[in-house]
Amino acid sequence: MNTFTESRTELEVIPCAICREITPTKRLTDVGMFGWPTHVSICKQCGLVFLSPRWTRERYNQYYSEEYEGDYREDKEKADETEQRKIRQAWPRLARYLPENPQAVLDIGCGLGWALAHAAEQIPNVRIAGMETSEESIVHLREVIGAEFIGTDVDTDWHLDHQGSFDLVIMRMVAEHLLDPVAAFKKVRSVLKDDGIFYIAVPNMLNPDGSLRDFWYRVVHTYYYAKPTLTRILHLAGLEPVEIREEEFELWAVVQRRDSFDDPGLPSVYHLQLQVLRRYQARRAVRAFLNLFNPRKLLARMPAGLKNLIPESIKERFRRLVYRH
Ligand SMILES: [Zn+2]
Repeated sequence: MNTFTESRTELEVIPCAICREITPTKRLTDVGMFGWPTHVSICKQCGLVFLSPRWTRERYNQYYSEEYEGDYREDKEKADETEQRKIRQAWPRLARYLPENPQAVLDIGCGLGWALAHAAEQIPNVRIAGMETSEESIVHLREVIGAEFIGTDVDTDWHLDHQGSFDLVIMRMVAEHLLDPVAAFKKVRSVLKDDGIFYIAVPNMLNPDGSLRDFWYRVVHTYYYAKPTLTRILHLAGLEPVEIREEEFELWAVVQRRDSFDDPGLPSVYHLQLQVLRRYQARRAVRAFLNLFNPRKLLARMPAGLKNLIPESIKERFRRLVYRH
């Protein structure tokens, strides 16, 4: 794994993507996965959670092209199985909003094209296109999946050649990596047909998973969305969720173009977000503490001499105890 010191990496302060300016923020942490400096901040005005300060665009580009895959590489068979399961789960969410006779599907950050392959199975003769960075994925996309490859980087001008072309744009577990989500969503909007839909899924900041420090907060996760903050960012790009839901640790939405709408002025999620994090951390601390006294683990750690003194019936009761926390 790559290691670095912060002094080697330039950082920049980022304006809030919703408030559109540099706003007062509260720092949630300075350390994330791999123990790397990861400055997670929350906007005190709207409650959006994002990295600031964070690496410059140049540093991110360098990281994604040279280091990312080495740090996050997954076993291919396991990834295939997980991704196929996830797209089977996601498809019914979006299928009922698809326009009639869909002709073209784009997946941004398509990996090895699992969602595109599924779309081609579900929709006869559909044109499938993908955007992905790794060379291996691009070759796989063209030669195995039979998809068109339309670019490596959402922040380039790829969209200019595809205006109003897609019935469905998919972006799963990608938007948390974006450097400018409003700009990226505007491009997505511009490539959608008038009645096209955009399916987006991101980790849900109002229901985190695992250790915040060692798993949830990552230097590559630049934005941490909640239902209200994702909705407001979509609004800024001229998009409106027709359905937006929290499921386990995921937040997903089916989104359509909207030319004009009254932004309902969603309330700030700042206090709710802090409350969720306080409770989450308290729950994890209690669980770690109780684990110290887990009878089964105590029994396993006990010296054999001492263990032999305990009647078998009591040991059995210990073993059967299931701690629920
Ligand atoms: Zn804000």
